[in-house]
Amino acid sequence: MQTFAIDRLREGVRGEVTLPDDEGYEQARRVYNAMIDRRPAAVLRAANAGDVMAAVNFARDNGLELAVRGGGHSVPGFGTWDGALVIDLSGMRGVRVDPAASTARAEGGATWGDFNAATYPFGLATTGGIISTTGVAGLTLGGGIGYLTRGFGLSIDNLVSADVVTADGRFLVASERENEDLFWALRGGGGNFGVVTSLEFRLHPVKDIYGGPMFYELSEVENVLRFYREYIADAPEQMGAFPAFQIAPPLPFIPEDRHGDTFVAIVACWAGPLEEGERALQPFHDVAPVVAEFVGPMPYPALNGAFDALLPPGLQHYWKASFVKELTDEAIAAHRVHGPEVPAVNSTMHIYPINGAAHRVAPDATAFAYRDANFATVIAGVWPDPSRNEANIAWVRDYYDATAPHSEEGGYINFMAEDDQGRIRANYKGNYDRLVDIKRKYDPDNLFHLNQNIRP
Ligand SMILES: Cc1cc2nc3c(=O)[nH]c(=O)nc-3n(C[C@H](O)[C@H](O)[C@H](O)COP(=O)(O)OP(=O)(O)OC[C@H]3O[C@@H](n4cnc5c(N)ncnc54)[C@H](O)[C@@H]3O)c2cc1C
Repeated sequence: MQTFAIDRLREGVRGEVTLPDDEGYEQARRVYNAMIDRRPAAVLRAANAGDVMAAVNFARDNGLELAVRGGGHSVPGFGTWDGALVIDLSGMRGVRVDPAASTARAEGGATWGDFNAATYPFGLATTGGIISTTGVAGLTLGGGIGYLTRGFGLSIDNLVSADVVTADGRFLVASERENEDLFWALRGGGGNFGVVTSLEFRLHPVKDIYGGPMFYELSEVENVLRFYREYIADAPEQMGAFPAFQIAPPLPFIPEDRHGDTFVAIVACWAGPLEEGERALQPFHDVAPVVAEFVGPMPYPALNGAFDALLPPGLQHYWKASFVKELTDEAIAAHRVHGPEVPAVNSTMHIYPINGAAHRVAPDATAFAYRDANFATVIAGVWPDPSRNEANIAWVRDYYDATAPHSEEGGYINFMAEDDQGRIRANYKGNYDRLVDIKRKYDPDNLFHLNQNIRP
């Protein structure tokens, strides 16, 4: 890129532009997944929506690739790209709560930690991710699955409006009343339609929750998963709970001689009345002996941050995902084989329930199509040592191959690998053609293509 051209961008923005020769470039080019080693042409740490408009226009007019980064958690590393201009929104993390309206507006680079810290003092929350460092925008644009999904739907089901900079550099508001087609597509369509500079959410009365992780012996896998399947089908919607496979980290609540052993676990979040929490979690204690647990009343943001330490930035990541309608005995048998082989303390497999409130939204009401799936599974390969890449990727792929015959063709775009581009149409089922039409209207030249891409 010509120096004089980048100088024009620098002069026109409030945020910092970092180039390959600048101090700070090594940090600026990196994303959360350490396996991603790309060298963008420039990284703009945007200060406001005006900076985003300038950067979109600059990339388009100069024929540059354009990568957009919020929380930086994209496992395929879409937030950084060789030769690209990166719009890094991590300088735009403000969250404003309107307690009278029970809404909150988050800037495009806010994380769920930022969001929950801002809403908690008001005794309010909305559906967000289970880890506090994940970006609000990236997670929401794909759908948004978390502890509160069964009660309040996906994050997109709580989205009231979004400010968006589209490929032509315009600033648009998308809501049920303005640019409705764009609003429809944003709710599940990922980063395909523009840069979202802020998002407004509906909030619900949630402050302290009762929950945490419970660990069971591997000999109980079938028992725990079969119980979970029956239980979650009609459990109270204040209960968000998911099964997992987990190597025990060296934490005080786990007996020391069990550190490093693998367990089947259930992580629960009861968001109903606190005094009912113990009783609400009783079924998880009745199903099998609990070897270790860290369960009790806690602030919702504390549960949201409880697993952050297992997932610091700088680890290797390779993930795969599917939607599941029924957790059949055959599927459970496949989990029984592959789950216990979880290769590192940071790796896991989660089966998130997406029944309840998310099912009450029609499949064509938003871009997110799998309203009839009961579960979203993710096989999250995460490990520190790059020399283990081949073996750990093989664990994810083998596990995925074994469960795929018992799953839907599509999966949740936010949990998918770069090699899942071939599943895009399946992810959106009957909504795909409409997404293509809306892409043609707002981004006919596919400027926003570094994502799970919907081609115009
Ligand atoms: C540790 C971890 C835990 C996770 N937990 C959950 C979970 O509980 N629930 C869940 O649903 N998902 C979860 N995810 C998946 C997560 O939703 C996706 O990785 C998501 O893309 C992350 O968004 P981000 O802003 O952090 O990432 P980024 O890498 O910054 O963004 C990913 C992509 O999203 C788009 N994007 C991001 N910000 C914007 C914006 N402001 N405007 C337009 N496009 C944007 C861009 O296409 C970008 O390339 C998790 C991921 C990780 C790594």
